[in-house]
This record gives sequence, structure tokens and C-alpha cells, in this order.
Amino acid sequence: MIQRPRDRALILCIVLCLLIATALRSGATPARAAAPPFRAPVDGKPGPESWFVGQWYGNTVWSHDNPYATGQGLHFGVDFNTPCGTPVLAIGDGTVFAVDGPYGSAPHAVVIAHADGIFSLYGHLQERAKLTPGQLVHAGDQIALSGDPAGRCDLDPHLHLEIRRAEMRETVNPVPLLNIDWQHATAGIRRNGTTFVRDLDNPDRWVAIAAQPDVVFGGVRLNDYTRSWP
Ligand SMILES: [Zn+2]
Repeated sequence: MIQRPRDRALILCIVLCLLIATALRSGATPARAAAPPFRAPVDGKPGPESWFVGQWYGNTVWSHDNPYATGQGLHFGVDFNTPCGTPVLAIGDGTVFAVDGPYGSAPHAVVIAHADGIFSLYGHLQERAKLTPGQLVHAGDQIALSGDPAGRCDLDPHLHLEIRRAEMRETVNPVPLLNIDWQHATAGIRRNGTTFVRDLDNPDRWVAIAAQPDVVFGGVRLNDYTRSWP
């Protein structure tokens, strides 16, 4: 049987497709990393007028006295700076675990329990959330309005978001767990909270956004450095 060039090209194409499909099924190409399990706690793109990360989780620069004594000297959440009254959204499906305490982040806070022993805490809310413990929520549901730690909205209004585990006794870095384009999340705004303290005796440790230690509440201070920048 005589094959025309077009037929040969078609056969070659089919063979190649079969080879690629087999390679993919057998795992010959590296599997794509699973998407982070949680969504952003606020809607929209980052920007100076909408929201931006004002302080990362972890070993961020503090002003003088480190204010995170209970959290081993680390900022144990991510701060989403946003005007007071911005809708705060559940980052995943879950159950309301606590409303206004006893887990801090005044003046008002909400905790949602998710699968696998993970909790999300939303702090510095504007008013007591209209939620009841045990109530089901879904990812993206509005659960509260953002506020300010001092209860006023002209200083540093922001949502403080934590991800906890171990029955609320530990926090982890939310960054790898949230499906957010972190590259642009500071909206180009540089503050103390967007930079990390450097231990001059171990200068590469805990200075990257995603590489920060877990926190055990009540544990020893991790960053009481002898020589540090700044
Ligand atoms: Zn915070």
C-alpha cells in the first residue's frame, strides 16, 4: 500500500501522541505541585487602595521591643492591610470554632476549624462577627468586616490572618497554604513588616517569605540575636 506524505504525517502524529500520553500516565514527567488548599481572605487584586501585605509571617523587622513574646518572637500571622469595613472571607470550608476569644487578636476575632486539624484565625475585626460556633461556612463566605487593632481606622487598619494546628497551640506560615499571587501582594509598598531580621551569625536563616519557622505558643524565643540587622 502506497502512503501519501499527508498520511505518513498523520500516522507519525498519532504515534507521538500515544507516546506522550503513555509517558504522562507513567509519571515520566514531573507531577505539578498540588494547588494550595486555601483561598485569599479578601477579594480583588492587591493595591494601595484595596489590600496589600503589610507584614509577613515570621521573623519580620520590629520597631524596638519585640511584641511577639508569646509567639517565640515571631509575627505568627500575615497582615492584610485594607480599609476598615472590608469584607473578610473564609479561606476554606469549615465550621465556626470561636467568636471573640479566647485566642487574642483584639478587638474582635473569629476562628474557623477546617479539615485535618487546621484552623484559620481572623483578627483585629471591626465588630463582633454575626456567627455562632458550630455553624458551617464555605470558602469565600463573608464572615466578618476588617478593622484595626486599636479599634480606630486611621492608623494601621488590617486583617491579621493565622493558620493554626495542634488544637490551636501552634501556628504555621500561611504563605504556602494560600492560593495568592504573593509576588505582587505587597503592592510595591515597603515597610518594616515586609522585611526580615537578619542574624549576622546565620545570615540566610528565616529571611525569605516562604521559609519561616513554625511557632509553638509559649516556646522559647527564636530570634534574640547577639548580632543582627537592623
Ligand atoms: Zn498581625
